[in-house]
Amino acid sequence: MIPVQFDYVRATSLNDALKTLAGGDGTKVIAGGHSLIPLLRFRLAQPAKLLDIAGIKELSGISEYKRGLRIGAATTYRDILDSALVRDRYQVMMDATSGIGDVQVRNRGTIGGGVAHADPAADMPGVLLALGASFNLRSKRGKRVVAARDFFQGTFATALAEDELLIDMVVPPLPRGGASAYVSIEQAASGYALAGAAVVVKCSRKTVTECSLALTGLSDRAFLAEAAAKLLVGTKADPDTLQRVGAAAVEGIEITGDIHAPAEYRRHLAAVVVGRAIRAAIDRV
Ligand SMILES: Cc1cc2nc3c(=O)[nH]c(=O)nc-3n(C[C@H](O)[C@H](O)[C@H](O)COP(=O)(O)OP(=O)(O)OC[C@H]3O[C@@H](n4cnc5c(N)ncnc54)[C@H](O)[C@@H]3O)c2cc1C
Repeated sequence: MIPVQFDYVRATSLNDALKTLAGGDGTKVIAGGHSLIPLLRFRLAQPAKLLDIAGIKELSGISEYKRGLRIGAATTYRDILDSALVRDRYQVMMDATSGIGDVQVRNRGTIGGGVAHADPAADMPGVLLALGASFNLRSKRGKRVVAARDFFQGTFATALAEDELLIDMVVPPLPRGGASAYVSIEQAASGYALAGAAVVVKCSRKTVTECSLALTGLSDRAFLAEAAAKLLVGTKADPDTLQRVGAAAVEGIEITGDIHAPAEYRRHLAAVVVGRAIRAAIDRV
């Protein structure tokens, strides 16, 4: 289908973009367009104006920040894959990024666009939750910081207000001596997660001393499985424990069933990816 008619403006600076968004005239931000353009073509989004932020320099790039990372919202997945900082320190992010879509999606799609779109089957929300990331948002009204755990609010719903831009994401350092991994079982055509698990662990003498676990693809949003992660602490991640953690990770979660996978199958996949991601992370310690 052909999208409805809209105006198109290319922001020349961050200030310029924020000013346009403050207009309250139904302006919609576009970065790589990989999620938004399909919505326009199905007429599920009918904005009066598109504001292209792809050329705003302050919004892209990856840099070291307080021994962790700062990732600009308009940074492409390609930039993430090419980043030595990410490769050396955040394998969970490398694992997830390398499996996103195809080469075209990774070359043009941005991490901020993916996060702001908040598809419940997207890979990166789970990764950012497990890493304890926080998001810097900005509008003409001011700046605010939102923790990843408060950002994802439901299917395609986030903490972003209509006049706000996601500026960047701040990722804290992994615990000293810690390691991380992401494992997903993908929908074959798109690569979106039917079930995905992101894990950060720290071990001492083969015993897990810290764990952060987040899942995606299973319900209306990515979520942290804190009670399940606690079950792993103090263990050597033996098969029985992994099974218990996998079951606990989805306790109380309303699991999605759809044309790609019924809910019971997703529940089974959740336990599989949790077990595999924990083992992969521990093997990297
Ligand atoms: C064929 C295909 C396969 C895919 N496979 C996967 C997959 O395997 N795993 C996965 O996780 N994802 C997958 N995706 C989704 C992909 O990750 C997203 O489409 C992409 O990251 C969106 O980024 P974008 O820059 O293209 O955003 P756009 O499409 O430009 O924007 C998406 C939304 O975010 C908003 N937005 C963008 N930037 C900002 C900002 N800085 N501040 C506020 N709002 C903003 C826009 O207004 C829009 O609502 C796939 C997409 C396609 C087309």
